[in-house]
Amino acid sequence: MATSTIDLTLPYKARVKGALNNKHLRIALDRATGRMAGQRVAAMTAVDSQLLRSQTRQMKEYVMRHLPDLLEQLETNVMANGGQVHWAQEAVDVQRVIVEIARKANVQKVVKSKSMVSEEIHLNQALQQAGMRVVETDLGEYIIQLAGEPPSHIVAPVLHRRLEDIADLFQRELDMPPTLDPQVICGVARSSLRKEFLSADMGISGCNFAIAETGTCCIVTNEGHGRMTSSMPRVYVVVMGIEKLVPTVEDAFLQYQALCRSAVGQQCSVYLSMTSGPRKAGEVDGPEEFHVILLDNGRLDMLARGYGEALCCIRCGACLNVCPVFREIGGHAYGSTYSGPIGAVISPSLHLEVTDVNRLPYASTLCGACRDACPVQIDLPRMLVELRRDAVKAKDATVFDRTAIQGFAYTMQSRLRYEAAGKMAGLGTSLLAGLSGGTIRFMPGPLAAWTDSRDFPRFAPRSFRAQWAERTRGRKEIRGETLK
Ligand code: SF4
Repeated sequence: MATSTIDLTLPYKARVKGALNNKHLRIALDRATGRMAGQRVAAMTAVDSQLLRSQTRQMKEYVMRHLPDLLEQLETNVMANGGQVHWAQEAVDVQRVIVEIARKANVQKVVKSKSMVSEEIHLNQALQQAGMRVVETDLGEYIIQLAGEPPSHIVAPVLHRRLEDIADLFQRELDMPPTLDPQVICGVARSSLRKEFLSADMGISGCNFAIAETGTCCIVTNEGHGRMTSSMPRVYVVVMGIEKLVPTVEDAFLQYQALCRSAVGQQCSVYLSMTSGPRKAGEVDGPEEFHVILLDNGRLDMLARGYGEALCCIRCGACLNVCPVFREIGGHAYGSTYSGPIGAVISPSLHLEVTDVNRLPYASTLCGACRDACPVQIDLPRMLVELRRDAVKAKDATVFDRTAIQGFAYTMQSRLRYEAAGKMAGLGTSLLAGLSGGTIRFMPGPLAAWTDSRDFPRFAPRSFRAQWAERTRGRKEIRGETLK
């Protein structure tokens, strides 16, 4: 059966081509991103969205300016609540710390709530190699774990699959009778996952935000798996990037509102699970051990290299849903844990195992839709351009890209050269259009990639400037003014 997945072992360009040629994927992307983008607009329009965005931005800027102090405050408060804090510089440090905690607590089975940071560091593979069974419990993550795929979207990891693909997978892997009824499909997943929760020794989650003033780690979900992950197993471990902080409880609810509205168009999520420490005497549930792991993995480098604005990201996924490139190719084509505009910005800076990572900043039309949608007003197009500049400086750009950019810069520095180039382009494309019967379906050399999938537009025979001068001259003549 044809599916909406692409071959992830291929190089970047081949993945993009595969995605563009996969009609099932295009349908799945179109449906999901269109729905999520529409819901976001409705939810943001229902409030003073400019105020919400600027307050969230100010709060995140404050966090970036006071990062060391806030991290220490979080550590102090987690420990005062009876939890333990671990600092990790790289992926291997997190893997080592969790394996040590698991061995001490005799952990056999781990349940995980959705966590992009654990995808970033390939945590599941490390735990499996250490002999543990790991079960993803977010429905989307559970589906892709069964399929052996990585997530394709920050918020909706299985966005690339149609209902038909998921039903087919459940029939094969879980002996589900044939059906396309979402309720039946969810029921099968629920009863399978319930058994896993009841027998798990350790729960691992990411963290949507951690409150420095109380030492509280918060996870936002709609399925309840986060709460079961954080409260049912004996040991609960939170893995978070060092930027996932908010100073106060009030700030937490500001970010919560921006996140829910921007991610899935909700006023609030079904669950907000807040853990401030292990179970205390007399409490009926909660873990016996509570660990928080603070991960750098390139984030401080990002700050030092001038891309700290990207650390204000609250991982809502809104920029993915409006990006004309993501909407065509989906997340897997990027080849990174983080896709879309924010993925193209942070992937080259984080310590990820991504091939062709310096090609990602080019996966953008620079239309600015991502910046307009972002609840933290992150200027993603500016950073994408700066990353392209870095790639050119580091000689990571292709010869064609370098030559094209140098030629463009040379042309734009002189009005004479600019006008001459415009005339030549008009003449050249008119000639090509004439030779090919009016529509340019073939371009020579490196431009052939353009005409592989679409026609090349014909340049206007006369420039806007020439047309404007003519019109102005005409009006002045009518008014009887003298032309100089
Ligand atoms: S960059 Fe902005 S829109 Fe994109 S995921 Fe982050 S917060 Fe959301």
